[in-house]
Amino acid sequence: MQTITTVAELRRALAKVRRAGKRIGLVPTMGYLHDGHLALVEASRAQCDVTVVSIFVNPTQFGPTEDLSTYPRDFLRDEKLCRDAGVAVVFAPDVQEVYPAQFQTFVEPGELAKPLCGAFRPGHFRGVATVVCKLFNMVQPDVAFFGQKDFQQCAVVRRMAIDLNLPIEVVTVPTVRESDGLAMSSRNRYLDDEERRGALAISRALFAAADEFRSGEREVEKLISVAKQHLQTVDRLQYFELIDCDTLKPAESPVRRSAALCVAAYIGSTRLIDNVILVLPIQHHGSEAMDDAGLSHL
Ligand code: AMP
Repeated sequence: MQTITTVAELRRALAKVRRAGKRIGLVPTMGYLHDGHLALVEASRAQCDVTVVSIFVNPTQFGPTEDLSTYPRDFLRDEKLCRDAGVAVVFAPDVQEVYPAQFQTFVEPGELAKPLCGAFRPGHFRGVATVVCKLFNMVQPDVAFFGQKDFQQCAVVRRMAIDLNLPIEVVTVPTVRESDGLAMSSRNRYLDDEERRGALAISRALFAAADEFRSGEREVEKLISVAKQHLQTVDRLQYFELIDCDTLKPAESPVRRSAALCVAAYIGSTRLIDNVILVLPIQHHGSEAMDDAGLSHL
């Protein structure tokens, strides 16, 4: 495995790979890797010949009062995890390499970046779209892998690739969870024991609503109220919404298209997000059989 820190060196290394006709997979991360990131690596290794993991804590996606300076980092551990996982290249540029002096050109996402996290983190998706576009241009992968945990990010990146004619397939990998259901996140390390227990309310709320949905409930209000009963214990609920998967706008009631329940909540001072996708059953001759393929990670 190679660790590369400059774009010039990365281009040299990957030119050879490309000339050999090999398929390149990119897994963009901010480091402090966990099994969720490693599931993206695994998906890349299954579909590509060479996997590049980028590790870059991107300053442009953090707001002025957010946790950029305290974001957890452990580069040596990340490198080892990548090596053990069969990654070919770790690309770990510093901030100047990505945003040199005079940098002034950004990617501005549209409607998909406005609701949910976009409403509470102004400029966040502009920063995400910009850095992902830059990483796509630096690495020029055939496929890029993103986690469903960041549902809105997946939608924004997928749209950007289409809108800007980037010849890159964007793959979404299901959320990896701790054994008790909490979605894995680098930010979970901020939680003390009591908060860690409290954080379980988030996944419980989502699963409770998903269960209701599987049992046939289609009224949005009902699904949300079932979930909210579990959220009494969170310190501050930022949003809890049932949205249309394509537009990210509130789903119409009763739910007739694929929808997702998305939540952002503070546990102490830690902001966590999570979601589940509610998949409508395939109608077999008018029967109500449930195709739960999309919910298999629950
Ligand atoms: P981050 O380092 O938090 O920016 O995440 C890098 C990538 O890993 C993003 O595409 C995330 O959606 C993905 N990711 C983070 N946590 C998980 C998880 N628990 N399961 C699956 N993917 C994840």
